[in-house]
Amino acid sequence: MMSRMNRNTRRWVILGLLIAQAATLLVLFLVSGRVAATAESDHQDALLATKTAEAIDRMRAHLQPAESVVTLMSNALAEGELGEATVTRTFIAAMETTDHLDGVFVGRPDGSFLYVSRTVEGYRIKNITKGGGLSTTELTTVDDDGTPQGTEFDPTDSYDPRTRPWYQQAAAMDGGLGWTDPYVFFTSQQLGLTATAPIVQDGVLVGVVGADIELGSLSTFLTSLDSGVDGSAVIVNQDGVVIAYPDSSLLQRETDDGYRTVTISEFEDERARAAVGAFVIEGASEGPFVAAFTNEQIGSSRASFRTVAVGDGDWTVAVFGPEDSLVGGLASARAAERTLLAVAGGIAFLLVAFLAARATRPLDELDRHAWSDMLTGIPNRRSILLSAERDVARAEGPGSLAIIDVDNFKQINDTYGHQVGDEVLAEIVTRAETSLPDGAAVGRIGGEEFLVVLPRQNPERARQACEDMRALVRSAPIEASVGKIEATISVGLANTPGPTGRDHLMAVADLALLEAKSSGRDRVVVAGTSAEKSLGGR
Ligand code: GH3
Ligand code: MG
Ligand code: MG
Repeated sequence: MMSRMNRNTRRWVILGLLIAQAATLLVLFLVSGRVAATAESDHQDALLATKTAEAIDRMRAHLQPAESVVTLMSNALAEGELGEATVTRTFIAAMETTDHLDGVFVGRPDGSFLYVSRTVEGYRIKNITKGGGLSTTELTTVDDDGTPQGTEFDPTDSYDPRTRPWYQQAAAMDGGLGWTDPYVFFTSQQLGLTATAPIVQDGVLVGVVGADIELGSLSTFLTSLDSGVDGSAVIVNQDGVVIAYPDSSLLQRETDDGYRTVTISEFEDERARAAVGAFVIEGASEGPFVAAFTNEQIGSSRASFRTVAVGDGDWTVAVFGPEDSLVGGLASARAAERTLLAVAGGIAFLLVAFLAARATRPLDELDRHAWSDMLTGIPNRRSILLSAERDVARAEGPGSLAIIDVDNFKQINDTYGHQVGDEVLAEIVTRAETSLPDGAAVGRIGGEEFLVVLPRQNPERARQACEDMRALVRSAPIEASVGKIEATISVGLANTPGPTGRDHLMAVADLALLEAKSSGRDRVVVAGTSAEKSLGGR
């Protein structure tokens, strides 16, 4: 076996290149993942903020007709008396154009009340008048054109506008417009809100105009707000009362006397509760801002919040959704990008491996030049001397070195020429290698001289190996280009039972070789007493 010490330059270069390439790809992969994650959360937040803005716009649009009619009529009525017919027609006109306006009305400090509400056929006008200590309630049904269809009186009516939330809230205001908290409507027994505005003449309250919207209709527009798969939106007022939610049945609870509102802390939708909970925890004032929260039902989620003034209150709109569904498209784009990166990276890696394997080929050649003998292909002097040092001289236990010299080689050269001499050398090396025991190596140390390194051999086995070599060389003539050439070798063998100096051991082998030459050639001489004596005698 040939020693491979320091002969893997090419392997190391290729390995280094591949590791560098792999590291580059890994970094690229990780960085791209991080960039994608950042882009995702930016996208989510932008999406939620947009949806929140949209929800607020729609909410404004939804509330606006009620706000308009009460503002318009409170101003008009403050300017001077309008005929009852004019007021009625204006109220009907407002309700005609806005489906979710359930009723428009005006109450007076004396308890009188004019109320236009929607019925199946058209509208109903309830008119409570006060006079001479008497209260009269007149109910008139009108069709879509405002043409009266019939009138009746309700002597049992106990309604007093001055006791109602919308009246009391406006009466406490100097002017402007307000929205009541959700409360139970007198007629429908449903929860709703009322836009309310005082009629003030010369600083004196002369009445209140109100317009009703049921909570259900306020929630309906949220249903149409597509905030992404599984996403939703909720509106709460400054007291935490839930004003709107796509499932409007959750907005009210039945009690012994009608319905009551629900606050967000008792709201029966965990997702909405968690979303608004995130808002409360963040303690934000106006927004808009986005907060992350986790919920068992929808997992990792994000919510966008914005608080806006509605009348004289503050409503907070929250739009929320699970992170996955918010970025469905982006997530698959990210997966595609990663796949592409992996494929491109794999190709790049293979390409680098291929190019590295090709481009580093000369390194093998360099290694061969540095460590091999060009003529015979066996280890050169430098290489075999290192093996001798490492495997025999410094190794624990017994070992041997043998020096081979071709007999009368000058004569072969002189007879057949240098070229044929080379052929003979190559064949002798081939035969020597054939007889090498396991773990041994042969290298060229000079012109026609070779060193055999025999690690871990006892003296007798080492001698036998040398004898085999010698016998094989002389066993048959060498088939050279010019014909058969007989050749023999002489071998000097030196054994050591343990670590020793390499040069010393080689000098001992050299002396044995000299003895082989002087005693007739074509033989193996083991450095014994006589050889060591002559070395010692120097
Ligand atoms: P001895 O048996 O005493 O060793 O006789 P010898 O002729 O082999 O002795 P010597 O060492 O003086 O001669 C060795 C010759 O080997 C001298 C040189 O011309 C020849 N030689 C050295 N290197 C090469 C080589 O690479 N190729 C060839 N063809 N000849 C070489
Ligand atoms: Mg020689
Ligand atoms: Mg010779």
